[in-house]
Amino acid sequence: MSTKAKSKSKSRERKGHCFLCGRESTTSCTSCQKVHYCSREHYIYHRQQNYCFPFRIVWRAGKGKCMIASRDISALELILFDTAVVVGPRNKGGPVCLDCGKETNNPYSCGICSFPLCGELCQVGKAHQEECRILQKISSIKDKTSVYQWITPIRLLLKMASNPRIYRQIQFLLDNNSTTVEEDESVKNTSKDLLQIFLRTDQLKQFSLEDFIWIRGILATNCLMFGEEESRALFPHFSLMNHSCCANAKHTIYINKRKIAVQAQTDIKEGDEIVINYVTFIQGTALRREKLKGVWKYNKFTENN
Ligand SMILES: [Zn+2]
Ligand SMILES: [Zn+2]
Ligand SMILES: [Zn+2]
Ligand SMILES: [Zn+2]
Repeated sequence: MSTKAKSKSKSRERKGHCFLCGRESTTSCTSCQKVHYCSREHYIYHRQQNYCFPFRIVWRAGKGKCMIASRDISALELILFDTAVVVGPRNKGGPVCLDCGKETNNPYSCGICSFPLCGELCQVGKAHQEECRILQKISSIKDKTSVYQWITPIRLLLKMASNPRIYRQIQFLLDNNSTTVEEDESVKNTSKDLLQIFLRTDQLKQFSLEDFIWIRGILATNCLMFGEEESRALFPHFSLMNHSCCANAKHTIYINKRKIAVQAQTDIKEGDEIVINYVTFIQGTALRREKLKGVWKYNKFTENN
């Protein structure tokens, strides 16, 4: 074989698709030689602290994006370590502090937007500061708890506006989870005026009503409830894992660090899908069904539950 032909066949061999976003790539990990990556931005999700995370994202008909093993994985091995891109208060129920997410019945409220906070400590907390100036525009609204459903979307949009990496992450990874037309209609009918007020603020003026609905849909489908306060958090890579009652992986949540770790529960063969049981931390079947209905859409599941 001539040198030219040799190098041609070599470069063909090296072609692959980024393990995370699926873009064509000729660069592969020199440590494990199991995955290709398109950029430094995506490589860091594969290899950290001299460890190659053994997963890749693929698209499968009828299922959408799935996480599969990029090599044979032994039981107890670490598969994924993910950080929440956004954390917000629960959507329903009584008043909660918009900083720490705890239920609050005391009369203390934010000096700027007049939404509930538990006290002075939370007044100077970081979490609520993000949306405080936006909520100030509706400080006289009577039913404040009806606004809670928009707090996490506002926080995520603000993050996307200031951090292009997060914007790309949401677009690439979670774009197949848009909401249905009926959901759009209900939002447009009941919350349109409120959203228009938010969209007129300097912080959110680059977005549209459609962006709000898109982000709300992504959060409704992919958020994980966590902590005693039942706050909502979006872990972008974790959310690509499908649910199964016969899970081969399990997850541990680190609430204070806003991180989640996924570990193999059994040996997993290269190419097999990595699936978890989302509800192992919830006791009782009735409660489990209720929670599943509320937080995840059925089409995300690999089995009926
Ligand atoms: Zn990529
Ligand atoms: Zn590697
Ligand atoms: Zn608080
Ligand atoms: Zn405030």
